[in-house]
Amino acid sequence: MLQRQCLCRRIPMNDLRLVTNTPGSEAAPRDRLGRALRDLRISVTDRCNFRCVYCMPKEVFGNDYVFLERKEILNFEEIARTARIFSGLGVEKIRLTGGEPLVRRSLERLIASLAAIPGLDLTLTTNGSLLDRKARSLKDAGLKRITVSLDSLDDATFRRMNDVDFPVTRVLEGIEAAAAAGLAPVKVNMVVKRGMNEDSVLPMARFFHNTGHILRFIEYMDVGHTNGWRMDDVVSAGEIIEMIGKEMPLEPLDPNYTGEVAERWRYKDGGGEIGVIASVTQAFCRDCTRIRLSTDGKLYTCLFATEGHDVRALLRGGASDAEIRAAIAGIWSKRADRYSEIRTEATVKLHKVEMSYIGG
Ligand code: SAM
Ligand code: SF4
Ligand code: SF4
Repeated sequence: MLQRQCLCRRIPMNDLRLVTNTPGSEAAPRDRLGRALRDLRISVTDRCNFRCVYCMPKEVFGNDYVFLERKEILNFEEIARTARIFSGLGVEKIRLTGGEPLVRRSLERLIASLAAIPGLDLTLTTNGSLLDRKARSLKDAGLKRITVSLDSLDDATFRRMNDVDFPVTRVLEGIEAAAAAGLAPVKVNMVVKRGMNEDSVLPMARFFHNTGHILRFIEYMDVGHTNGWRMDDVVSAGEIIEMIGKEMPLEPLDPNYTGEVAERWRYKDGGGEIGVIASVTQAFCRDCTRIRLSTDGKLYTCLFATEGHDVRALLRGGASDAEIRAAIAGIWSKRADRYSEIRTEATVKLHKVEMSYIGG
């Protein structure tokens, strides 16, 4: 078949996406929908000290659940090497996640090597349970920003949602410790599940109003295949904004950058900003620049993927950086994911990888 050629470089037009250079990157690949690769989420552990009902339900993640073995998980050198290769491909932002990233021992050592990658925005998402003790060392290691998940200020509701009886005060102390250590503004993520914590939306908004912390409401998603997701349990971003706006008037803000996950709003009284992540009711796949690296070194091009690509085999099999870079560029260039735009009752039932393993 006759292919159109780029006359200056003699390569098929279809492959041009692979050679679109951007400042700071050697070859920034584009996927099949023209999306650049900008964000890497790294799951540093599949373990967690919480059992949030929407993420790691106890009936599935009980005492007999088999987590990854030590030899299976990427070590810090392997993660840092992969991160440097991604940086060369145009990745500008890395988020460490899990599982609960702060349960991984000596995480500060990994943060220090990632922080040494020039021009990288380095952040981390945590449940906040260990943050009061760790905020200072994380900051000293080079962490720039932090997101803390907190689903309610009501202690009983929060304990019910984390399902390990963890008190809300400890997470609030963690948020304050993070701000005091200079990880401000702290972003606070609240997943809203109908019948569980939607009555916590307003108290959370009131509490964080005027604090400088940025509260973000996340629509409950059908990630994984164990949380028994139903559309009826989703409280839409529109509903949340309406609920808050009635009491504390809001106005929309422009995104900070293309592909920003949260839609931004600010209080008209100058009390700060909030965000809504409407991944179910207003899909934002068209701007999705994210890729995920699982704890055991598999790459997933979508949060709702059913299969990953094994990078660990390359890392441990003697591949050069150039070979790994080419492999990643190839994976990204074949990507056509847009799950949230095509979600149906059938896709909800797919055997998708769990969020605690792939990283949120
Ligand atoms: N353990 C850390 C934490 O909870 O912040 C990091 C990993 S967690 C998987 C990352 C984020 O995903 C958290 O903010 C969590 O609330 C969110 N999350 C988990 N399951 C979700 C679901 N089913 N729908 C929406 N958000 C979810
Ligand atoms: Fe653990 Fe985070 Fe999942 Fe909760 S949301 S179970 S804290 S990984
Ligand atoms: Fe990106 Fe997949 Fe989420 Fe769409 S569904 S925004 S492609 S991760």
